[in-house]
Amino acid sequence: MAQVVLKDVVKTYGSVYAVNHVSLTVEDGEFVALVGPSGCGKTTTLNLIAGLIPMSGGDITIGDRLVNDLDPKDRDIAMVFQNYALYPQKSVFKNLAFPLQMRKLPKEEIDKKVRDAAKVLDITHLLERKPRELSGGQQQRVALGRALVRDPRAFLMDEPLSNLDAKLRVQMRSEIKRFHQDLNATVVYVTHDQLEAVTMADKMAVMNGGYLQQYDAPANVFENPKNMFVASFVGSPAMSLIPLEAVTRGTDVALASPEGWELPLSPENSRKALGASSNKVVLGARHSTIKLHKTPQPGTVPGKVYTVEPTGDVTFAQVFVSGATVNVSMPPSFAIHTDEEVYVEFDQARIHLFDGETEMALAAR
Ligand code: ATP
Repeated sequence: MAQVVLKDVVKTYGSVYAVNHVSLTVEDGEFVALVGPSGCGKTTTLNLIAGLIPMSGGDITIGDRLVNDLDPKDRDIAMVFQNYALYPQKSVFKNLAFPLQMRKLPKEEIDKKVRDAAKVLDITHLLERKPRELSGGQQQRVALGRALVRDPRAFLMDEPLSNLDAKLRVQMRSEIKRFHQDLNATVVYVTHDQLEAVTMADKMAVMNGGYLQQYDAPANVFENPKNMFVASFVGSPAMSLIPLEAVTRGTDVALASPEGWELPLSPENSRKALGASSNKVVLGARHSTIKLHKTPQPGTVPGKVYTVEPTGDVTFAQVFVSGATVNVSMPPSFAIHTDEEVYVEFDQARIHLFDGETEMALAAR
C-alpha cells in the first residue's frame, strides 16, 4: 500500500471553492475518514485523489508518484461507492474477475486472486450467485472484493454503507475496519456520519465549506476541538455551546449571562477566557460532563427543561440555559419533567471555552 499526500489542493467551480487549499498526509496503512456536512467538499476531495475530476491547484502524491496528470486508471487506486455497481448478469466470481480480465492477466492468476479476496471477505460460498441473490451486506462485500483483487495502492470509499439499514451498517462498519487492519490497507473514506468516522478511522479530517477544519485522531478531535464548528459536529448528542460575557472578578473571571447570573471560572479557565479577543466567550460542554440539580448549589446556573428523552440505559434531556439548548444525559432513575426549573453544574475540568468573535478554542496561556 502507499502513502497519499495532498498539498495545497484547490478545486473551484466558477467562484465556488469546493476544496480550499487542503493539505493532509494519509500514512501508508492508515484509515482516514473525510467527514463533514453536505456540501463541505469531501466527495470532491476524494474524486480529486481518484483523478475523476481535474484539480484547480496543488499537488497529489500516491506512493512516490506525483499523480496530478495521471488518468484514474493509472493511479493504482480502487474505489468503492455507495451503489455497488455490480454487474447484475454476472456471478460474484465473474464480478470479481472482470477487472483482472480487462487487465489481461493469465486465467490461473485471476482465479487465485479472486479466491484469495473471497476468502478474506468470507464470500467463497457466494461465488456462483448473482448479485440479486445476495443481501445488501453481501453485495457490499463483493464490491469490496472487486476493489481488493486489483491490489491497489489505496482504497477510496465514498459513503459505502449509506444504502444499508442501521443494523447492517454497524456490522459492516466492523467488517471494513477488520478489512483495513488485516490488509494494512491505506483507506480514504468519505462519510457525513461523524460516528462512522470516530469508530472506524485512525484519523479524521473534518471539513466545512471546502476548508479542512481539523485533522487528527478521533479521540483528540473529540477532546480538543479546534473551533466551534468541530466541537458541534463531532459527538452525539452535540456539544452544547452557550454564548456568554466574560467579566473580571478580582484575579479571576466569571461568565455572565444577560439574565444576570454569573458562573465563576477556575483559575485555568480564567486564564483561557482572558485570551479571548473580546469579552464574548462561548462555554462548551458535552452532555456527559453536565449534572442537573433540583435545587441551587454553589457553581450551578439556572435552566429550564425543554424535552426529556428516555432511551433505556440513559435519559437525555434538553435544557434551556440563557437562551441556548444544552444537552444533558443522566441515569434513568433521575426523574425530571418538561418545563421543570433545574440547576446546571458544569465540570470545570472538562468544559471548553471558545472565542466568541473568532469561534476558535481558547487555550490556557
Ligand atoms: P455530500 O455529502 O452532499 O455529497 P460533499 O461534502 O461531498 O457533500 P461535494 O460534493 O464535494 O460535497 O461538493 C462541494 C461543493 O462543491 C458544494 O458546494 C457543491 O455544490 C459544489 N460542487 C460539487 N460539484 C460541482 C459541480 N460539478 N459543479 C458546480 N459545483 C459543484
